Amino acid sequence: MKYHIDTIPVWDAFKQKKHCPLCALKYKVELTDVDRCLGGSVMEPDTRIRVNEKGFCARHQVLLYNQRNRLGHALMMHTHLKQSHSTLTPMFEAAEKAAKACANAPITKKLMGNKDGKAALKDAAQRILHHTESCLLCESIEENMARYAYTLMHLYKTDTAFRSAFAEADGLCVPDGAMLLKMAADHLSGELLTQFAHDLNVLMERSLTKLEGDLEWFTLKFDYRNQDKPWGDSKGSLERTANKLRTYCIGEEPIQE
Ligand SMILES: [Zn+2]
Ligand SMILES: [Zn+2]
Repeated sequence: MKYHIDTIPVWDAFKQKKHCPLCALKYKVELTDVDRCLGGSVMEPDTRIRVNEKGFCARHQVLLYNQRNRLGHALMMHTHLKQSHSTLTPMFEAAEKAAKACANAPITKKLMGNKDGKAALKDAAQRILHHTESCLLCESIEENMARYAYTLMHLYKTDTAFRSAFAEADGLCVPDGAMLLKMAADHLSGELLTQFAHDLNVLMERSLTKLEGDLEWFTLKFDYRNQDKPWGDSKGSLERTANKLRTYCIGEEPIQE
């Protein structure tokens, strides 16, 4: 896939040292997308068609709800509900049919465990589940993040200053590190690929070790004997640990100044 290269947001995300640069980029993209969703684009037929088809996941329902635009949110959900209704009805009917076939199967089939009948019922359930798993916002955010990751590869390839910044990005979270490794496999080669994996390995080892120490001290601070000792870097280490292992989820929002 070809991406438009815009290096400035990626550079900016790496200049702040507090948060995972990719989580910070994602946070910004998400805020903009949620805002846009309930803004003017709600009325655009193109967006409406896509909302009707995909809907929103639980996380993005919460973010849309927090925007406090009940009418805009309800209008989108109403047309999505209508479309979902017509998609789901035959699915639940198929499930009922499969259950009936299961129950009415000849005794010989039942004794054999009735694998086909159960499989048809589970398949119907799976198709219903699948319908509830799509999210327009998740998809759009993912596309944007793939573009940023591609830009990051381009910067790593062409800009030595960026390479140094990357090697010092101790805030980088583990899931985003893994995502970048996948990207690197396709976009870097030879010595650069080796260096990239080395930089990532070193920064992960250093930052995980530091975090482990900080979090341990955080727990020890609850001991009254340590009450008056300094916190060091341990404040916020619980939040930093969760965010490091699972992408940003708790604590101070990764907003870039
Ligand atoms: Zn991250
Ligand atoms: Zn979503």
